[in-house]
Amino acid sequence: MTAATPVVLVIEDEPQMRRFLRGALRAHQYQVVETASAREGLAQVAGRNPDVVLLDLGLPDVDGLQVTREIRRSSRIPIIVLSARGQEHDKVTALDLGADDYLTKPFAVSELLARIRVALRHSALPPGSSSDSTFRAGELRVDLIRRQVFLGDEEAHLTPTEYKLLATMIRHAGRVVTHRQLLQEVWGANYADQTHYLRVYMAQLRHKLERDSTRPRLLTTEPGVGYRLRDGM
Ligand code: CA
Repeated sequence: MTAATPVVLVIEDEPQMRRFLRGALRAHQYQVVETASAREGLAQVAGRNPDVVLLDLGLPDVDGLQVTREIRRSSRIPIIVLSARGQEHDKVTALDLGADDYLTKPFAVSELLARIRVALRHSALPPGSSSDSTFRAGELRVDLIRRQVFLGDEEAHLTPTEYKLLATMIRHAGRVVTHRQLLQEVWGANYADQTHYLRVYMAQLRHKLERDSTRPRLLTTEPGVGYRLRDGM
């Protein structure tokens, strides 16, 4: 392990789940710190300054949502919540409270690693910035300075709101963005419940950017949660 080895803090009370995460992460060169309670987890966030937190929502002492709130009071560290089936509502609340992404148990190692990679990459960039002035994913290319959007060689003409929606998805590329987050960032705080706006504009954007808008590959739906733009890397 070198100094550059990212430290993953696992806050999870199920020993089996901890064993699975420890094995998967160590095999892929992550350093793992484990705790079985929220209280101990919060102490580790403050004391060890880990690079990413995997947070189980169902903890015995303090609710995972409360833990998310506590961490966000003092830190921008990426939080990936681990939720069980039936915790859909809590998962969305955790994301709205500032968690970065989620995994629904059971999940594959490849999914776990992909989420961690995206989280670490985003946290390495200054807030609101992009590492590059051009975003690429598959056939899509967006010049973020000129605000031009291309699909292959063809320019796609977006309305200002469509562009704003796409630019917001690019800022969160690879990560889930909740309906509420998108409505607030694109339309403003007073629109947080107007999910029909989002449905209409997302359909328009897909129509312009997806080869087959009935089977989106770029802008995918996370049922009951929000949307995810395919990772540009
Ligand atoms: Ca649990």
